[in-house]
Order: sequence, then C-alpha cells, then structure tokens
Amino acid sequence: MVVEVMAAAVVAAEAMAVAVAITTGTRAESSSPTMEADIYCVPVDDRWLVFAPLHSLAALVNDSGVRALRGALGGDDRSVYNTPLSVIAEAAAQATPPASREGPARPPFLGLILTRGCNLDCAYCDFDPGDAGRAMGPDLVAEAVAGWVEWVTGAGDERLDLHFFGGEPFTQPDLIEIAVHRARHLAAARGLTVRVEATTNGLFGEPMLDFVRDHFDSLVLSLDGRQAEHDRHRHRRDGAGSFTRVWRTAEALADSNVELCLRCCVSDANVDRMAAMADWFCRSLRPRAWCSSR
Ligand code: SF4
Repeated sequence: MVVEVMAAAVVAAEAMAVAVAITTGTRAESSSPTMEADIYCVPVDDRWLVFAPLHSLAALVNDSGVRALRGALGGDDRSVYNTPLSVIAEAAAQATPPASREGPARPPFLGLILTRGCNLDCAYCDFDPGDAGRAMGPDLVAEAVAGWVEWVTGAGDERLDLHFFGGEPFTQPDLIEIAVHRARHLAAARGLTVRVEATTNGLFGEPMLDFVRDHFDSLVLSLDGRQAEHDRHRHRRDGAGSFTRVWRTAEALADSNVELCLRCCVSDANVDRMAAMADWFCRSLRPRAWCSSR
C-alpha cells in the first residue's frame, strides 16, 4: 500500500467564499509573472496558507511572514533569506512551471464519469443531488472502452489505463464490471496490459470490495482523518457519518495488493493537524511507501 496525503485543497464550505476572494484579489504581489500567476494566500484563522500548486508548495505562516515573502518574491527585499522562511521563498522562486506540451495529444488514461450521483452528502460538495439517478448507459461505457483500446493500439502503446470518477462510481457496480471486463478482454486480444484505478468515497460492501481486490490496481480513497474529523464533512444524506464503513475499506485494501492513495481534504478546521493526521494514517495502515504531496 502507498499512502499519499494530498493536502493542497482548502475545501471547507465556510472557507470557500473567503478563499476565492483572496485568490483573485490579494495574490502574493510581485513583479515576477510566475509569482503573480500561481501563488495564493488563503486566510486560516490568524494565519495564512501560502499555496503554490505549480511549485508543490503549501505553508502556514503568520502576517509578518506573508509580508516578508511578498517583499522577497517581488525582488526588492532579501532579508527573508536569513530566516527560516528562506526555504519557502526559494521553493517559490526556483521551481519552474510545467513545460508546455508539443506534438499530438497523448491522453494518459480513459476517465469514465459513470455518474454524478453519490451516496454521500459531503458538506463541501457542490454536486447536485438531483443527478443521483443519472448514469452513463452500458452501451456507451462499452463503446468508450473499445474506442480507447483502439486509440492505445494505434498509438503503439502497450498499457491501457482506465480510471473511474464520479459522483461516486461504485454506486454503479454493473457499469464498473462492464468496463473492467471489456477492457481486460479487448486488451488481452491485443497483448496490452491493463491498469484500473478509481477515485471513491469507499462506501461499498464486501462483494464490491472483493471485485476491487481482484481487478483494481489502485484506489484513491477520500478519508479526511479520524472519525470526528472525517464525519464532520463527509456524512450521508440522513446526517449519519461515513467513517466506520470507509475505514473498513481502507483497512481491507491496506492488506491487499491494491495501491491505496488517501485523499484528505484539509480545511481551516484541521489544517494545523496535517502532520498529525499523516502520522496517524501511516501508523494505522502501515504503508510500504510514502509519497509527498507533490
Ligand atoms: S463523496 Fe465526493 S461526490 Fe460524493 S458527496 Fe462527497 S465530495 Fe461529493
């Protein structure tokens, strides 16, 4: 199992309106085009989350720290380089944005959004509950997979990557099985290897858990921390928490050959406990490897 703590998003509903205003109105000011484009300051209680996704940078600093960083990144104040903030300033200044891609498009995977419906009602989710009954048709699923197999074969690639997204994709188990079996069947005839991944809330029972163990290579599981932290935002439509079932899924997959990636949404309520949460994930699930938040 691999634990990857993805802690870049500030998603608490109550923080969202503030965060948007800050990212459009008070970005870290600088004469550098890179700095203007992608460094954000988000208020978190009495401090600031300095967030630069293209630089793989997230740091919690106080008011004077933000002022010092602004001065340094604007190029007119080098005093910050004599302080612990130099680590942040150097990361922001030296990292380069991703290079633009050239040549024909080479999509890395087929992503199927089987449905926008979900069996949870997370506080920070803006998906419309009215989408609950809508899903892709089975014929479209099968055609999409067949088209992807043709594309991969034509491109001379040897691996077929299939990802499921939602909503919650596992609320459509029949469509999952159609896609996976068709992909493996067509790929075998062409000598392709298959890699299957899903992003999920983990709220599924034993039969689907067995299917995942047998057919999936990787699962991105949303888990916001211990029970109180997780259930604070990630609850069912009747208000009941989801932690118990999701944790059972996490433990089961941690003992399997499925690569498990934990996606932890960080809000103003728990941003100061990120390190403790990562430590708890690792102690509880005993990963074989640890990835940074890059
Ligand atoms: S599990 Fe995902 S799609 Fe479902 S309510 Fe939560 S955030 Fe929205």
